[in-house]
Amino acid sequence: MAASKKDPLIGAHMSISGGVHNAIKSGDALNCRALQIFTKNSNQWKAKVLTEEDIEKFTQAREASSIRAYVGHVGYLINVASPREDIYKKSVASLTDEIIRADRLGLHDLVMHPGAHLKEGEEYALRKISDSLNRIIDATPDITTRLALETTAGQGTNVGYKFEHIAEMIDMVENKARLSVCFDTCHTFAAGYELRNKKDFNATFRKFDEIIGLEYLTVFHVNDSKKPFASRVDRHEHLGEGELGLEPFKFLMQDKRFASIPKILETPKGDDQKANDSRNLDILRSFAK
Ligand code: FE
Ligand code: FE
Ligand code: ZN
Repeated sequence: MAASKKDPLIGAHMSISGGVHNAIKSGDALNCRALQIFTKNSNQWKAKVLTEEDIEKFTQAREASSIRAYVGHVGYLINVASPREDIYKKSVASLTDEIIRADRLGLHDLVMHPGAHLKEGEEYALRKISDSLNRIIDATPDITTRLALETTAGQGTNVGYKFEHIAEMIDMVENKARLSVCFDTCHTFAAGYELRNKKDFNATFRKFDEIIGLEYLTVFHVNDSKKPFASRVDRHEHLGEGELGLEPFKFLMQDKRFASIPKILETPKGDDQKANDSRNLDILRSFAK
């Protein structure tokens, strides 16, 4: 049975409001095979403890679900490159807590934005992030959830908008088995990697392979971009309604190398979340055939 073609590994980021298990229900309602969640409120430092009951409900929903790929995304306040000592300390503590939460939920990858240096320079950021990751990984030896470094648009002082940045961080982390990479189509395009025709799409992934290594690629964020090529601005758009158009998503869905990598929408939810996600998922499904 050609399961991977008929049943592509696609899904969306879903809300955990009312409990982590609710995200699975939302994913199931849209016939998703992949899911991304925050493990806590993404705009606060504080996190409500995940109770045994929360885990139990999540596990039960999971057993009944057709979703096969489970990804987490860390909160937005975390910046393990911060030169501000208070923010840095909170960020390391929060990321450590998040990876433990993700592991308890059985998420295979926890996506993080590498960090922003706030004018201290990119080399400073890359060293500080790698140092933080080494500390966090050492402090959580029994965990299997990988930390997935996300390619960024390079907005403000964020690093991660060049494949070289990602490669350099991986290089400086000792336990590389604990790391992976998330390729966000909107971010990477806004960072200046072309995806809009087959030749350039292939060239971009050839570069990714040469500089980082395709073996690290475990998650796709599938978003169109409101902002132009190389704008270094991060604004997601519905598939086909932004600067990327539909072609890159066709290439992505039809590339055999990526068949087993989860592809997750982070497109605008709008007033009717279900209708918006459903429309974008249908576009991806139509390309998988
Ligand atoms: Fe992200
Ligand atoms: Fe993303
Ligand atoms: Zn983004």
